[in-house]
Amino acid sequence: MDYNFTQEELSIQETVRQFAKKEIAPLIDQIEKEKKLPEDLLKKIMELNIIGLPFPEKWGGSAGSFISLLLAIEEMSYVYLPCLFYSLVSSMAAYGFLNFASDHLKEKYLKGLIAGSIRGAWAFTEPDTGSDPKQLKVKAVKDGDDWILNGTKRFITNSGIADIAVIFGLTEKGVTAFVVETQEPGYIVGKREEFLAFSGSDNGDIILEDARVKGENLLGEEGQGFNILLSVESFAKVASCAGNVGLARAALDFALQYAKEKTHRGVPIGLKFQMTQWNLATMASKVAASRAFLYSVGAKMDKGEDVTGESSLLKIFTGAAAREVASDAVQVHGAYGLSKEYAVERLYRESKVNEVVLGTNELQRVIAANVLLRS
Ligand SMILES: Cc1cc2nc3c(=O)[nH]c(=O)nc-3n(C[C@H](O)[C@H](O)[C@H](O)COP(=O)(O)OP(=O)(O)OC[C@H]3O[C@@H](n4cnc5c(N)ncnc54)[C@H](O)[C@@H]3O)c2cc1C
Repeated sequence: MDYNFTQEELSIQETVRQFAKKEIAPLIDQIEKEKKLPEDLLKKIMELNIIGLPFPEKWGGSAGSFISLLLAIEEMSYVYLPCLFYSLVSSMAAYGFLNFASDHLKEKYLKGLIAGSIRGAWAFTEPDTGSDPKQLKVKAVKDGDDWILNGTKRFITNSGIADIAVIFGLTEKGVTAFVVETQEPGYIVGKREEFLAFSGSDNGDIILEDARVKGENLLGEEGQGFNILLSVESFAKVASCAGNVGLARAALDFALQYAKEKTHRGVPIGLKFQMTQWNLATMASKVAASRAFLYSVGAKMDKGEDVTGESSLLKIFTGAAAREVASDAVQVHGAYGLSKEYAVERLYRESKVNEVVLGTNELQRVIAANVLLRS
């Protein structure tokens, strides 16, 4: 299907496709075993300047389209979805700085975030909630011009390797976003998390113990934190859906390959069994619909349209599609699909993650329904 991508977008797609094949694919087994993305790979990912694709040249970006970012993420996720999260959180921080930071903070951090010399973390979730700002327990109290932060953040990607973390805490005026330098006293890296999937991703607790933050390090205004969160998550949700599409495409391709190679009494199962064909066709229809939906929302973002409701619908649809396609890919493989020797086993585990992160898909339904009912 022709989506009318520009030459530049197609060239980015091809560059990342080749990069992922050459630089990421050979390392997947090692990453899964060592549970760590190699520093050298992280550097190479940053050198590709994926984060900077849709950002202005003034800040070191490429002034490209948002679609080009989606194509890059999709190609990377086609090979290995966990690489997405590493760059996505820095991208989220950069998007937050671009739209809400003072000129001083932009000068100090934005170029570095985009270039990859500064690593970011984006910390909203806490032990008691990842969905409800009213339940936040990280508190920020004024001390002269500074703020003192106390409390715990949980499940935070890059928390142990970030240079700066955007921390959402409560002040008297409500949820507020603080830029915390992780080398400063009071920022403590806590327990590391081990999930069902994404073992290469750095994720865990941040403990804030009297962490002192300069007044100038407020992102946006005091009390504006929840709006900042919603705006940045809307951007990040669409980006993460490109991950769903990449993963689903990979699962479909593995299933097609297996259906052509695995024989039953001398005949490939894809040619012999209508149920296998039914599975493959159902998977392909979900992949095609997910791609078309993704690019249509991306095109709206490039036009500057508000996609609050649609980004939620996209997350619901592509999240379920990726999980179902990965599940069907396992089914096509039979018991081999459950074996760690076959990639579809990992894809099946990975496919669940995006239905929970960046706001669970139940919460996306709440957001989408609100937008629909208000229109
Ligand atoms: C790999 C990974 C990376 C992550 N990275 C980050 C990160 O970098 N930064 C960060 O801040 N967080 C991060 N998270 C946390 C993630 O975003 C949260 O876990 C997620 O938003 C859900 O929050 P929760 O786990 O607290 O669930 P809860 O909010 O406790 O929800 C529990 C259940 O209640 C339901 N529920 C809650 N509220 C409502 C409602 N209003 N209406 C209907 N149903 C509701 C939920 O759908 C869910 O089923 C990460 C998580 C993972 C797994």
